[in-house]
Amino acid sequence: MKMQIGGKAVEACSHEFSDIINPATGELIDRVPRGTEEDAEMAVEAAWSAFSDWASTSPQQRAGILYRAAGIVRERKDELAVLLTREQGKPLTEAKNEIEGFANVLEYYCGLASSFHGGFIPIHQSGYAFTVKKPLGVCSAIIPWNMPALIMAWKISPALITGNTLVLKPASSTPLTNLTLSSILSEAGLPAGVLNIVTGPGEVVGESLIKNRKVKRISFTGETGTGKRVAELAASGMKKVTLELGGSDPMLVCDDANLEAAVAGALRGRFYNCGQTCTAVKRLFVFESVADEFIKKLEAGIRNLRVGNGLHENVDMGPLNNRRQWEYIKELVAEVEEKEEGRIVTGGRVPEGGDYSKGYFFGPTLVVDVSEESRLLNEEVFGPVLPVVRVKDLDEAIEKANNTCYGLGASIWTKNIDRARIGCERLNAGIIWLNQHLKVAPEVPFGGTRDSGIGKENGPDALSEYLELKTVMLKT
Ligand code: NDP
Repeated sequence: MKMQIGGKAVEACSHEFSDIINPATGELIDRVPRGTEEDAEMAVEAAWSAFSDWASTSPQQRAGILYRAAGIVRERKDELAVLLTREQGKPLTEAKNEIEGFANVLEYYCGLASSFHGGFIPIHQSGYAFTVKKPLGVCSAIIPWNMPALIMAWKISPALITGNTLVLKPASSTPLTNLTLSSILSEAGLPAGVLNIVTGPGEVVGESLIKNRKVKRISFTGETGTGKRVAELAASGMKKVTLELGGSDPMLVCDDANLEAAVAGALRGRFYNCGQTCTAVKRLFVFESVADEFIKKLEAGIRNLRVGNGLHENVDMGPLNNRRQWEYIKELVAEVEEKEEGRIVTGGRVPEGGDYSKGYFFGPTLVVDVSEESRLLNEEVFGPVLPVVRVKDLDEAIEKANNTCYGLGASIWTKNIDRARIGCERLNAGIIWLNQHLKVAPEVPFGGTRDSGIGKENGPDALSEYLELKTVMLKT
């Protein structure tokens, strides 16, 4: 597939390509251009040229195009889901949910098309003022490989509906679904240059987009370390940024929790998308009094998870997305064994037999009684490994849960309203779930605190991130 710049499918100036590999089979799926700084600049110029016309269309006209695109995406859902599974690895049912999610987010922002406008402010002493809201201009979005379609929607929908133009850089291992979704937007009537996709390495294409003077805003999702680099570069150009970064979400299971529901929540919360979700359950704290029973049920649930190629039927968990991630997870678990930092109850290795040897598979893993110094509790574990720690009460659970640099999500499982309230008040997180984990919705603001990022996506407030507020004062 080729990049999309100014409404055309183009090759990179370097004439070089990158291979896109199926993580379940190791097979080559396609090749994409290895974009350069020059390509990034061309894309910004295309977005710059398209801005004025796009900004002068009405929000309702823009919504019409995005609605049409959402409709085509729904019609082509099955085909898009297969493509997503092939490049990302997730089971087909999860891929279908994600494609559906892309269409839902687009439609949600279409529904807000008439909602953003300035206001009238009477001034007590003399006269009045009013505010107007204008699009910013060219924006840039840089996205990761774990949920490429959904995160694309979170970024392009508020940007486009408010009249901005955009250059998006997909992750190097998952650009195909993004390119196909972008061509669907063109088919739906999005004018040339309004949305441009440049493939290529983050350090080259990503940094070039951030440094470009014509880019007014950066919306980045990825690792905390990369996010800090993005923030540094953006600060020197005085650009607005949203940073959706890593997390190490705690799940707190109290002794009065519905244990069956908590086990189901932990299974989905940790192993959905092979554990590669920013808000996955990455540390689990359970009250000592119910820990043995809970761990037994959890072990049984994990042993029932079926690992395999996401394209095959009856698969609950696919491979990790890429070799770097796979090596990292293997190394972490080997270190736990070597340093005796916890007891591996199930999993802990690459599954044997079948076609597992061809892909980046790792068995769903449960590690209990994990020691405090283990990397499992101190780094973002982006894979199918669940560390469990026993705690005596809620105070200890909250203290340990907050002992991290991250602050993305957290969940508390209890039937006791006071415990739920205390958890909501004291847990350091941008989003807190009660008796559930992982659920997100286009209507609900999403984003972390501390090293998990800056700013919010989703919900009506995300629109303001893409609008400049101008104040006009009139003397009477
Ligand atoms: P990375 O930070 O490695 O990459 C994210 C994107 O940034 C990719 O497109 C990458 O390009 C690009 N990039 C890499 N280096 C630079 C740079 N110097 N300047 C600009 N762009 C750059 O993250 P991953 O792709 O590994 O994604 C996983 C991470 O994303 C996890 O930490 C996860 O928690 C986080 N995440 C956070 C979410 C949130 O909402 N808070 C949601 C989903 C994921 P390339 O692929 O070419 O390297």
